[in-house]
Amino acid sequence: MKKIDLHLHSSLSDGDYEFAKVIDLAREKKLETISITDHNTWFCLDKKASLAKKKGIELIQGIEISAKHEGVELHILGYAEKFDGNVFKKGLDKTLAGNKERMRRITANLVKHGYYNLNFSNILKSKPPQACLTKHDVIKELIKRSGMEYGEAKKTVEEQSVPYGNWAMTPLEAVRLIEKAGGLAVLAHGGETIHKFEKKYGKGKGGKIFFGFIGLLIRGKLRGLECFSTKNDGSMTEKLLAIAGKNGLAVTGGSDWHGPVHHPEIPLGGNWLPEKYYRLFMKAIKNR
Ligand SMILES: [Zn+2]
Ligand SMILES: [Zn+2]
Repeated sequence: MKKIDLHLHSSLSDGDYEFAKVIDLAREKKLETISITDHNTWFCLDKKASLAKKKGIELIQGIEISAKHEGVELHILGYAEKFDGNVFKKGLDKTLAGNKERMRRITANLVKHGYYNLNFSNILKSKPPQACLTKHDVIKELIKRSGMEYGEAKKTVEEQSVPYGNWAMTPLEAVRLIEKAGGLAVLAHGGETIHKFEKKYGKGKGGKIFFGFIGLLIRGKLRGLECFSTKNDGSMTEKLLAIAGKNGLAVTGGSDWHGPVHHPEIPLGGNWLPEKYYRLFMKAIKNR
């Protein structure tokens, strides 16, 4: 059986390890096909692919774009054999800058609450400007300055968090950007997203908004659903598979692994996509 995981993160967004190490670890775990879907960054898409090739592992280029719908923050995945990085460079400018500003505001809130030795410029300097600054970077800086345990630091940062600003794309804009860059747009982890809608609008209404929203995206060129995910329960997987089947959408799957620090509950090395769906997915990528 082929082992496939199409949803991994590296330190170019909020993963624990650099992408070279992610590729090495994936190889150790005998994964045959992977995608490193870092948040909002086109940086090193080609480098990730060429390194994986050198190491003998198949890597599909990937990205995960942050978007906002009806006040709910959600993620759109994009996959391609080879993306046009220049399209992303322009299209993600506002998103990357918005993320930086969001982290600056969270850091300012922390300083206001007594963490006086936190310095945003250190956080900014901790990664290349083309990479995506995340709460994970703020947490790491807080640990460095306060000696806190990871769990406590995460909680402290979450308490001072601020929502996505006006810079956030709509999901349809994210879908169109991925299409324009030569990729296949896929709705990430529906199980997590429906919970967010339910939390905001209540169970019945939240679910209705979520499934209506999928219909809206399909009409707007969404090409796939992440049916298999650590964040989807069995019934969500079934529902998404049915929607994908009815609408001729690609089916994808991935762990959303970030590493042992950021998300210790998610291990690396599982198979997240049955081979029949993998073959259809590859066909969809090649024929787009
Ligand atoms: Zn996500
Ligand atoms: Zn993810």
